[in-house]
Formats: sequence, C-alpha cells, structure tokens
Amino acid sequence: MDCTIDEAKQTQLEIPFKGNVDSAKLKKALQGYSDRIPFIIVTITNNTAGGQPVSMQNLREVRSIADKYNRPVLFDSARFAENAYFIKMREDGYREKSIKDITREMFALADGMTMSAKKDGIVNMGGFIATRRQDWYEGAKGFCVQFEGYLTYGGMNGRDMNALAIGLDENTEFENLETRIRQVEYLAKKLDEYGIPYQRPAGGHAIFVDAPKMLTHIPKEEFPAQTLTVELYLEAGIRGCEIGHLLADRDPVTRENRFNGLDLLRLAIPRRVYTDNHMNVVAAALKNVYDRRESISRGVRIAWEAPLMRHFTVQLERL
Ligand SMILES: *Cc1c(COP(=O)(O)O)cnc(C)c1O
Repeated sequence: MDCTIDEAKQTQLEIPFKGNVDSAKLKKALQGYSDRIPFIIVTITNNTAGGQPVSMQNLREVRSIADKYNRPVLFDSARFAENAYFIKMREDGYREKSIKDITREMFALADGMTMSAKKDGIVNMGGFIATRRQDWYEGAKGFCVQFEGYLTYGGMNGRDMNALAIGLDENTEFENLETRIRQVEYLAKKLDEYGIPYQRPAGGHAIFVDAPKMLTHIPKEEFPAQTLTVELYLEAGIRGCEIGHLLADRDPVTRENRFNGLDLLRLAIPRRVYTDNHMNVVAAALKNVYDRRESISRGVRIAWEAPLMRHFTVQLERL
C-alpha cells in the first residue's frame, strides 16, 4: 500500500517535501490490515513521486506511528544523501548541520535499511543491508552465506567495497551534492524556458516529465509516458525511462492495469558524467518533440509482458 501524500500527484504544485508519507493513510492502513503488514518502508528520496524528498519531521512521525503499532521501519536508501541535502536546504533548523550529521539523524529513526549503492554510493555496482536489530542481522547472515558469499564480503569483492566506502564519504559532502543537484536544476530551468511540464520542484537525481500534459492526444491506455520515451529516443538517441502506468503494473487480484498514478518520463542524470552542454541537448531534443506533439496521435500497446514486474522486459508495438 502506497501511503505517499496526495500532493505528490499534482506535478505543478511546488512544495518542499513532496515525498512525505501521509500519516493518516499510514494509520488507516495499519488499523485496517494490521495482520498483513510486516513493516513500513520509506524510500528516501521517494522514487515513484519523482525523486522527491522526505522531511526529517515526517520521518519522526513515521517512527512514532510505527512504535505505536509495533512495526519496524526500513529505509530504501538509494538516494539518502540527496534526501539529506534537501533537508539541509529546505527544512527549518538544518541549514547549519552537515550532510553527515543529518544522515546519522535520519538513520537513527530506522530499524534497518537497504542500499542500492550505484546511486548515492557512486559505485558501478553493489549494495548492502544494515540493521540495528540483532535478530534481523542473524537471520540475514544465513542467507548471505548461502546465496552471496561470506559475511565480510557478501557477494562484493574487496576493491568494490573500498570504492563504496570512498563513495559514501564523498557523496555526503555538501559540495559534491550541490554540484549534482544544481545540474538537475539547470535542466529544469531549460525546460521551463520551453514550457515543458515536469514534476515540480526538480528532484535530486532526475527530471520527471509529465507525459499526459505533454502528449495530450494519447489516451492513458496507450501509455503516454512510454510513448514519449520512445519519441525522445528517436529524436536524439536520449534514453529516458517510463515511470508510469507500465511500471504501476496490474492489480494482483483483478489483473486490471493501474492507471490512477502519475505517468512520467524520467530523465535520470548520472553523477559526474555530463556537462551542462549535454543538458542543453537533452532539453532541445525534448523541445523538438514538444513542438511536434500534435502529430503524435497514437501510443503503444503491450505485445508481451511478464506476469510480475513487467516494466523491465515488456515488449511493445507502436499503434
Ligand atoms: C535502484 C533502486 C533500487 C534497486 O536497486 P538495484 O541496485 O538496481 O537492485 C531500489 N530502490 C530504489 C529507490 C532504487 O533507486
């Protein structure tokens, strides 16, 4: 059950912490389905809401609700450092604190965390789980040995773990985060110039273009964001990714497509790879697609999809 605040669905609304958990929704879920909810997971920053941050105050609220209902809290931490940056810049009382201190304060509120390290760990590959609960640690240990490798390296080699240690240190430095997040903002300003609608304010790692607002002729059943992704690739070879109706998948019971969420084209910007000139090219390519949007009248249909997590391997036909 997704308990993100409703405001996250209004792409043109500018609020500082659009990735927050809605406390009322969370309580209602815990009351209504208590026997079926093993834990609460908070994604920092909130990926499906468009890389939007979660405030420290909101994390504290989640912690207190979790304590009240006796449920553990996990953070999906792929972009924790960007989340800490936004707390520093946008939340009262944090401007003078370091990213590392804010990070410690965030994680003090969790029982455990998962980390896709190729994001805010700035490494090629890898990840880890951390927990303050001894029972989880002991439980995970067994799986580690069976499926990944011995505890001290768990599927990663020493060189990669050394790189990760440095990546975590460097990416919790303010200047590094600022350079990266400002580049995403730079792209956002270009899109503002061209009138292209995206999830506002610009997120930490990506711009999420509001596809149905751009390709107004394409019905949701023909996947506007996926269509825009294809058009942008044909226009200039730029590889975005649909974060929308395809990703939302089908209802597990009715097998109907879930069309009630956002339908976005994600332009994720790799760290330390591009110059601002590349951003100019991305923006110009989108503008070209925008200028001929009236002529894009049909979308795509699904030719084949996997029964679970179809997003990654789906095959499509243009209509
Ligand atoms: C990338 C990502 C994952 C998956 O991580 P992998 O390293 O690709 O397996 C999970 N959660 C979030 C928020 C991510 O960004």
